[in-house]
Amino acid sequence: MEKIFNYINGELVAPENGQYLDNINPSTGKVYSLIPDSDKRDINNAVKSAKKAFPMWSSTSKQERSKILMKLADNIEKHFDKLVIAESKDNGKPESLASKVDIPRAPANIRFFAGAILHDSSNLHEMDGVAINYTLRQPIGVAACISPWNLPLYLLTWKIAPALASGNTVVAKPSEITPMTAYLFSKICIESGLPKGVLNIVHGLGSKVGDPLTTHKDTPIVSFTGGTVTGKHIATVTAPMFKKLSLELGGKNPNIIFADADFDKAVSIASRAAFTNQGQICLCGSRIFIEEKIYNKFRDALIAKASKLIVGDPKDPKTNLGAVVSKDHMNKILSKIDEAKKMGGKILLGGERNLLEGELKEGYYIKPTIIEGLDYNCSINQEEIFGPVVSIIPFKTEEEVINMANSTKYGLSASIFTENVSKAHRVAAKIDSGVIWINTWLLRDLRIPFGGMKSSGLGREGGFKSLDFFTEPKNICVKI
Ligand code: NDP
Repeated sequence: MEKIFNYINGELVAPENGQYLDNINPSTGKVYSLIPDSDKRDINNAVKSAKKAFPMWSSTSKQERSKILMKLADNIEKHFDKLVIAESKDNGKPESLASKVDIPRAPANIRFFAGAILHDSSNLHEMDGVAINYTLRQPIGVAACISPWNLPLYLLTWKIAPALASGNTVVAKPSEITPMTAYLFSKICIESGLPKGVLNIVHGLGSKVGDPLTTHKDTPIVSFTGGTVTGKHIATVTAPMFKKLSLELGGKNPNIIFADADFDKAVSIASRAAFTNQGQICLCGSRIFIEEKIYNKFRDALIAKASKLIVGDPKDPKTNLGAVVSKDHMNKILSKIDEAKKMGGKILLGGERNLLEGELKEGYYIKPTIIEGLDYNCSINQEEIFGPVVSIIPFKTEEEVINMANSTKYGLSASIFTENVSKAHRVAAKIDSGVIWINTWLLRDLRIPFGGMKSSGLGREGGFKSLDFFTEPKNICVKI
């Protein structure tokens, strides 16, 4: 069986303890590779190697860093098909999605930041002929980058690209549930000639690897994307160490459909926002608020649209939804659906496991599920489910829907559908979310500030926000 290795000091190495965990293919439920069950010793080795590489990498010119990163991006593209197949097998997502979204975004992330460092500028504040202040932005040291399982290579590169481009070295910990593309990426780093120790990747469990990484005295920056509970834990342990911390956490995103929306477009996008990647995107629109006047018509159209989605073999190009990421996660989603039923929710579509045949019969498939009749305030409409489950809720007025949309502890993203420009801007300004789309969803410009309010995160990433996060500003005042 294939074994995955850690990537430390430029080499692929076994974990110090020689222990491995099973890596399961969610589409079949079968173990298909082994992952290092690393511990503190591997983290110490990785941080030591990153710390040693920091003086060299931080003093490498921006042009040279950019050149090396561009080569890395080119080599990801060289292995495109292999990465698509690996991401789908590891995560359960359709290959068609991995080839349209996940894998293209990895080189795009790297090229974006490799280019951005060449076009950066710094501030200068003049004091009326008395003095000038200029601000340097300098790399900090070893960045700890922790990423989740839903968009494995996409989110790993979203963190390490700005960290490396701005001159830091990195120890990354991908999710132990989806380690394969990070492993293939470490081979690509070797092939691309990334200097030893600049990037280190340690595989293993959050408690055994994540904790020693975030609390290590030599990792002054921590960038984390994952669940709100883990984010809270990381904030608690890193705060007394005064680390620079960025948290991209969960969401329970509202999708607001006004009666004057472009109906067909709104139905189509609402379905895509609910079910893409089996509903396992932090930005998925899992609460659809529909203006009462069009509620029945919209509900029926949404059911018709979603019932056409094919849940099946991730390898089949016709498949729209593959498997959810793990058995535990499938059971959690199914138990939330049961809870919704017990609360009086009506299952309009799906609501159960999708059983396939042959080698896929043990896979973790769930039918796209639409629920109606639940109060906006109940736990199903307040807590993140992170699966192909959407709740539909009618509203009468603008004020009412703004209230309901803002009622959760989250504030990551929202979509608003209306053809009335004034209404769109008015409502957008009042929704508590870091990212708002009008008449669209998941349209991403890598330059924008990306992140959430309230329990959806801390700080913003994206564009120069990421480069700011991974550098320390230093002001120098010169008396004239
Ligand atoms: P988790 O919070 O469970 O895990 C995220 C990462 O943190 C994993 O690598 C995990 O390792 C690791 N981890 C777990 N415990 C610790 C710890 N004590 N210290 C350090 N690291 C730890 O999230 P999921 O992987 O389940 O991802 C899904 C969540 O991510 C959802 O809530 C989703 O909304 C959110 N997300 C947010 C995004 C955003 O940009 N706002 C984007 C994508 C997802 P292990 O897997 O080994 O436990």
